[in-house]
Amino acid sequence: MKKTVKDYIRTIADFPHEGIMFRDVTTLFADARGFRMAIDQLLHPYAGERIDKVVGLEARGFILGGAIAHQLSKGFVPIRKKGKLPGATVSQAYKLEYGEAVMEIHEDALLPGERVLIVDDLLATGGTCEAGIRLCERLGAEVMGCAFVIDLPELGGRALLEKLGMNVHVLCEFEG
Ligand code: 5GP
Repeated sequence: MKKTVKDYIRTIADFPHEGIMFRDVTTLFADARGFRMAIDQLLHPYAGERIDKVVGLEARGFILGGAIAHQLSKGFVPIRKKGKLPGATVSQAYKLEYGEAVMEIHEDALLPGERVLIVDDLLATGGTCEAGIRLCERLGAEVMGCAFVIDLPELGGRALLEKLGMNVHVLCEFEG
């Protein structure tokens, strides 16, 4: 019997490139008990706190964020890769291992003063989440927490986000 969220996560070697150990959360999402456990545990530290909206980072953050928003009876807002959102957007560039990427949010998706929880499946360097935080803050929202299923501590994302003053919550760790 699988007991922890970590037990439901599968590792695929050499994906998407040779030498990468890809932490695959589809096996967690596919299991009713595992998925429920992950959603409950992601929300656990925020019990009693005001959360106005849940923000999910493309793409697996949409699956987690949608379920969390539903559980809280709050709205869900996607942050997407450049060019995917249909309305007027605000954009934020961030560094990748090689080169740069751009994330976007609809400019009217958050209201000034709203308290948002950012959700994604995995925290590595923290670059994606940092871009997400900047987008939320540029709309005047307050990021009250960043929650992830997996942290790869060797890659320093948690330290980066905490340096920005963020409250970071992770369910388990893997080697990078
Ligand atoms: P970061 O910007 O923190 O370096 O990378 C985090 C982003 O990369 C997340 O959006 C996450 O979905 C994706 N990512 C990178 N490596 C993995 C992995 O091994 N497994 C999964 N599920 N996502 C990954």
